[in-house]
Amino acid sequence: MFDNLSRSMEKAMRLIGKDGTLTAENMKEPLKEVRRALLEADVSLPVVRRFVKRVEERALGTKVIQGVTPDVQFVKVVSSELIELMGGGVGAKELEPGFPQIILMAGLQGVGKTTAAGKLALHLQRSKKSCLLVATDVYRPAAIDQLVKLGAAIDVPVFEMGTQVNPVEIAKRGVEEGRRLGVDAVIVDTAGRLQVDEDMMGELRAIKAAVRPSDTLLVVDAMTGQEAAGLVRAFNEAVDITGAILTKMDGDSRGGAALSVREVSGKPIKFVGVGERMEALEPFYPERMASRILGMGDMLTLYEKAEASIKEEDAQRTVERLMEEKFDFNDFLAQWKTMNNMGGMQMLKMMPGFNKITEKQLYEAEKQFAVYESMISAMDEEERTNPEVLIKSMSRRRRVAQDSGNSEAEVTKLMAAYTAMKSQVGGMSKLLKLQKAGTDPAKAAQ
Ligand code: GDP
Ligand code: MG
Repeated sequence: MFDNLSRSMEKAMRLIGKDGTLTAENMKEPLKEVRRALLEADVSLPVVRRFVKRVEERALGTKVIQGVTPDVQFVKVVSSELIELMGGGVGAKELEPGFPQIILMAGLQGVGKTTAAGKLALHLQRSKKSCLLVATDVYRPAAIDQLVKLGAAIDVPVFEMGTQVNPVEIAKRGVEEGRRLGVDAVIVDTAGRLQVDEDMMGELRAIKAAVRPSDTLLVVDAMTGQEAAGLVRAFNEAVDITGAILTKMDGDSRGGAALSVREVSGKPIKFVGVGERMEALEPFYPERMASRILGMGDMLTLYEKAEASIKEEDAQRTVERLMEEKFDFNDFLAQWKTMNNMGGMQMLKMMPGFNKITEKQLYEAEKQFAVYESMISAMDEEERTNPEVLIKSMSRRRRVAQDSGNSEAEVTKLMAAYTAMKSQVGGMSKLLKLQKAGTDPAKAAQ
């Protein structure tokens, strides 16, 4: 797909060379290479400009890690910025939680909405979630047939009311039907148009208001070139999307649209379509995509090895904190965030003993954590780092409740959760101390 970028990066590395450091001067030509390659891949010009600027700023701002040559450093910065541009973080973005999850499909005609609706249903079904598909494209009779056939092929029920009923009404009834059936997810397919127009946006807005979806996914054809940015902006402004699905990635498109989605809307690509079959849907991993684009796996491994030794120092600091038995609300939140980043509660589901957890319980648990987070954000620095003051002061607890829009009972619950986690951490720190005493007597004696 991005062959040119990969080749340009090699050229850029030669231009920078292995001596010295990265400077505005020696990056000038290499940055031009990156810029040209991105434009050739149909990435929109404003997106390219911002990207190149960020790479330059970041490359000048980062300190060079020992044992890494400037050319490798440059590749690393481009790679990190690419990952950031496509959504950042680790792993793929999940669908938003909900009970039921309600997923609204949006996008122009022919981009692959109906196909993607079927693919998502199969994907959810494979993770043991039941689905209902809802057909609201009343403008072409064949569109309803298409969804009915897809549903039959993957054994997912399809709700339709023919072509004589208003799409908003169908969507609303469809979701009601989903609730009645007790399905885990309702996927609402919609009609597209050849171009962005007010009719389509109006209808989408009305459907969205009627069904209040947990996800509104913009389906984008990977072949969309320069227009991708404008398209994403129009849909995002009209219906505030939660993410995108990039279809037809199996084709020979240059795929520049992949880079525009996040930059323009701030929303992640959640899935990619890689064929016409129902199985041809993959989660979108920004990191994998970036290394595919750059095709420079070895370089990055080298860099990561150098970086790992620095990360070790960070880990050491965490251990030291544990040893001192410090555990405040910042730690509480960090602990939870780590869990959440790893797929959070969904991970729990795969652990023995937890696999009886229902979707609803998972959803409730995720909501609970969101409440905790809102209360912790409402604390001042002293309360966050020294929870004792909150335990002692009723008026502080009341203020936190008020400022975060929660009840005092919720704050009490948070204090209990904090105390429970702290005692667990206390146990861990004792274990660490024992371990350290056993393996490293000289240090333990200090
Ligand atoms: P809609 O108008 O947005 O609902 O688009 P459809 O779902 O009807 O898809 C339009 C055409 O694109 C169909 O022929 C699909 O088979 C095809 N299509 C959809 N997704 C993909 C994909 O990921 N790869 C390929 N090669 N074709 C796709
Ligand atoms: Mg369709």
